[in-house]
Parts: sequence; C-alpha cells; structure tokens
Amino acid sequence: MHSVETFRDLQGEAAEWRRYLHQNPELGYGVHNTASFVAEKLASFGINHIETAIAETGIVAIIQGEGGDGPTIGLRADMDALPILEASSKPWSSQIPGKMHACGHDGHTAMLLGAAKYLAKTRNFKGSVALIFQPAEEDGLGGQRMVQEGIMERFEISQVFGMHNSPGLDVGKFAICDGPTAAALDEFDIIVKGRGGHAASPHRTIDPIVIAAQIVLGLQTLISRGTDPLDSLVISVTKLEAGTAYNIIPEYVNISGTVRSFASELREYAERQIRKCAEGIAQGYGAEIEFKHRRLEPCMVNHTEATNVAIKAACGLVGSESVNDRLRPSMGGEDFAYMLEARPGSYIELGNGPTAALHNPAYDFNDEALPYGIGYWVNLVDTTLAARD
Ligand SMILES: [Zn+2]
Ligand SMILES: [Zn+2]
Repeated sequence: MHSVETFRDLQGEAAEWRRYLHQNPELGYGVHNTASFVAEKLASFGINHIETAIAETGIVAIIQGEGGDGPTIGLRADMDALPILEASSKPWSSQIPGKMHACGHDGHTAMLLGAAKYLAKTRNFKGSVALIFQPAEEDGLGGQRMVQEGIMERFEISQVFGMHNSPGLDVGKFAICDGPTAAALDEFDIIVKGRGGHAASPHRTIDPIVIAAQIVLGLQTLISRGTDPLDSLVISVTKLEAGTAYNIIPEYVNISGTVRSFASELREYAERQIRKCAEGIAQGYGAEIEFKHRRLEPCMVNHTEATNVAIKAACGLVGSESVNDRLRPSMGGEDFAYMLEARPGSYIELGNGPTAALHNPAYDFNDEALPYGIGYWVNLVDTTLAARD
C-alpha cells in the first residue's frame, strides 16, 4: 500500500494527457480519437493485450501481474464529454464549440492511464488487472453495452470498481457508502390529446394546455401524499411543449420528465401512478393521453465486501480521516450500475476541490486530484491482488 507521495511524479504527465483530452472532447459512442489516444498510450506502457471496438469505441486492456495466478479485477473509466459550450476560460479549453468535458471524464481517463503506466511497470501483484475504458456514460448506455458484449465473462473479471470526481469535496478526500449509491433512472412522456380551435372560442375546444397544467401539478402530490416521507423518490417534469400561435388552442401538449428511485416498489409506484394521475385528469376534461415510460439505469448498489476493500485502499493512500465512508446516496443516475449488477464491486467519489459543479459550463477537472485517483487504483490492486498473502 502506498501513500500519495509515490504518485506525485506521475501528475505532470497525467495532466498533459488530461488537458489534451479536454481540448478534444467527443460525445457518446463517437469517442474515436479519445479511444485511439488511450490505446496508443497503453501500448507505449508495454501492455500488449489491448482489445478495442468493444461497444463501438470501448477498450479493455489486460495487465498481468508477476506475482502468480490470481483473479482479474476490473477498473473502469468513462471517456465521453457533454454537448455544452465551455466557459471555463482555461488555456486548455475545448477546441470544439458546443462540446466539453464538463463531467471530468477526461480526468477519469487520465487517472486510469496513470495507474496503467505504474502497474505495467511494477507488475507487483498476482492475477490480472482489466482496464475498462467505456464510451457513452452520459447517455446511460455504454456501460450496459460493454456488459452485454460480454466483457465480464470474456476477461474473467471477478470484481469491478468505479470512481467519479466530486466538486465540493476537498482534493485528497474520498467518499463512499455501502449499499445503494446512485438512484434508478426512468423517463416518461405524456401526450395530452385535446381538440384544437380558435382561442376566442375556447368552449368549442378541449384545451390541452389547461389539462397539462393540472397534470403537472397533480404529479407533484404523488410523492408528498402517496409515499412514506422517510423514503426517497423524485418525479420531475423537465419538458413541456405546446402551441404555435397567440390565437390557436393546440391539439396536443407533450409533457416529459424523469423519475429517480432506490426501492423497486417505489419505481413501480411512480410508473403506475403517473399514468393513473394523467389519465384521470385528462378524462375529467374530455381529453385523452398517450403514456410512454422507459426504464433506463438500475439503482447502483455497492457491495459490502468490495466497499470495505475500497475503503482500505483509500485509507492507505490518504489516511482514514480523509475517507468518508458514510457518503449520502445521490438521486443522480450512473451507468456503472450495470457493471455492479454483473459483478460485485464498488464505486467511490474523489475530491475535485471547490470547482464549478458537474455539467456546468465553467467546470474543469482539477489536476491536483490526479495523483490521488492514480494512487487509489494502484492501492486497490495492491489490496485485492496482493502478491504475497
Ligand atoms: Zn455526467
Ligand atoms: Zn460523469
């Protein structure tokens, strides 16, 4: 187990990689240049088992330890950026207008590369490390697709670990919790079908705008009146589209939104009651609705044993006073959930200091956090694959 000082030497180089990736952001599955950059770096570290084009642009690379036979553990980084116009005013700002690394996946990729360089050189562990670089985290599908394409079986991965930077948490600190960590994520669409007509003769129409307004308000009470106050559930209407002119009552209104939950009963409750509430209100006014509901990411659940290992690795790096093992779970979704459904493992947050929030145009990954992230990965390998037990 190493303290963070071991990894300070890697910070300069990792920051160069990170800033290059920051200047050249790519979205979703289209992370072609990023993936080539990653594959080239991995090869330059002397790693010769590199498989590319998994889930279009994902990569899995294997580093074999020199400490004998043992299991394979997976370390995962995400590579994709966001469709946001950057306003960080950093010298290494995005060179592609309308795309930026506003979630720090440039930093995540650079940290896993830093760990790869260190581990490929030392190889002081038994078994193998599978470095997983995934596309399309923000779409919530890249992780699922890598699992569907069989990476866990193909590379015999027995445990898998993830990490995300956290603005507001001091650099050099970690936060983690056992059990549910990020919420399940669903989306819904409600089309309210009324009858259009002249705005001056509302009595000849069925005004879907008034009905949609009632539905939006109706949804607000599903949680406050229908669920236990101690449970967690979010229903947010995030899109409302209607109308074309001042003097026309439209035929349709589209309502869209998101649901976040931990417990499966609440997930089912929300799906059922959103439909009932919208149908009931629409019927009362003579309108109809069309309802669509999609289940996206599952709830992300950290496994107890792997979480204890992660805590040990982080404490070894920075001391137990810098590791919060009672992180409050987030209602945000995270597609690492699919990997944790497939294999036991754990997901940790890494302090990014007082930067702008994730997905904000002024956000930038904090390069001071790089040696901490690199050191965490290496300590995790030391803990799970110790060459001498
Ligand atoms: Zn994000
Ligand atoms: Zn992210």
